[in-house]
Amino acid sequence: MLRPVGKRRRPDGVRGARVTVVILAGGIGGARFALGARDVLPTNALTIVGNVGDDLEHWGLAVSPDIDTILYTLAGRVGPLGWGVVEDSRSALGVVSALGGPDWFILGDADVGLHLVRTERLRAGATLSSVVEDVGRRWRVGATILPATDDRLRTVIVTADGEVGFQEWFVGRRAAPPVVALRLDGVAEARPAPGVLEAIGAARRIVLAPSNPFLSLDPILAVEGIRASIAARRDDVVAVSPIIAGRAVKGPLGEMLDSLGHERSALGVARYLAPLCGTFVLDEADRDLAGAVEALGMRAIVTATLMVDDATRRALARAVLEG
Ligand code: GDP
Repeated sequence: MLRPVGKRRRPDGVRGARVTVVILAGGIGGARFALGARDVLPTNALTIVGNVGDDLEHWGLAVSPDIDTILYTLAGRVGPLGWGVVEDSRSALGVVSALGGPDWFILGDADVGLHLVRTERLRAGATLSSVVEDVGRRWRVGATILPATDDRLRTVIVTADGEVGFQEWFVGRRAAPPVVALRLDGVAEARPAPGVLEAIGAARRIVLAPSNPFLSLDPILAVEGIRASIAARRDDVVAVSPIIAGRAVKGPLGEMLDSLGHERSALGVARYLAPLCGTFVLDEADRDLAGAVEALGMRAIVTATLMVDDATRRALARAVLEG
């Protein structure tokens, strides 16, 4: 357990007696890291800023895949593949499919319940952040989960054949067409959700989770003011490599590093994130890259980064938060 920073007087004169940590996170990798961090931190010391670039409307419902993965993971409800609800049924999907409706995106029955509540509240004028806050409190997630923005922000994938929405590319086309660029629809109007910049400014440590830097971190950082507020805290920012031994643990990051012109290695990610973080966490398998990471002007931490259970998640969180 990390010890709270006792009686530290913040510049604004407020007595800050708590350890506060902010994690910028995508879906599965981010959620698993957040779970480990929550478990080793004092109660309510953690704020997670989540990606909404993957959000979609499906079956008329507002779906926030990355935020929901974080909610389910911290609530102990997540399915075995790291998304959706554990032991969920698919009756609704079966009916949709049998009736010739869109069945390319899987929504389990219990999952639909969350989307129904969110959609109804958004239609009644609530903000996404207020809905997430309420659900997180009811499910006792033990952390503050903030969408990066309450405004509409959507990641658009640019391929050689033109543009396609993120979920259609990722799920519908199995992430096969190479990504030549990314565009963030709505980014010019997107403002940080209430509390995001304040949490970043007050955090003792900020973590860029092992998430896809292009698909998960960039859509958070692109929201007005967030990238600058992170860069201003660079000495306190730690990134965890989502690449181990030249491979993504899951997902399309390896291919994306290639097609977007970066080296397909933890060092390629380190170069990309170097303006934002003073510390970079490498897996033990990439120990040889530590010198090259330090040559970029970052401190390198080498530790086991593959999260497979409570013990490995907590050990990684300790190494990142105490290192
Ligand atoms: P997504 O939205 O579900 O794709 O999730 P994220 O963007 O949070 O995470 C995807 C990235 O996390 C991928 O590039 C994975 O390589 C990485 N990742 C997933 N699990 C782990 C893990 O246990 N350790 C590390 N180091 N990276 C991981």
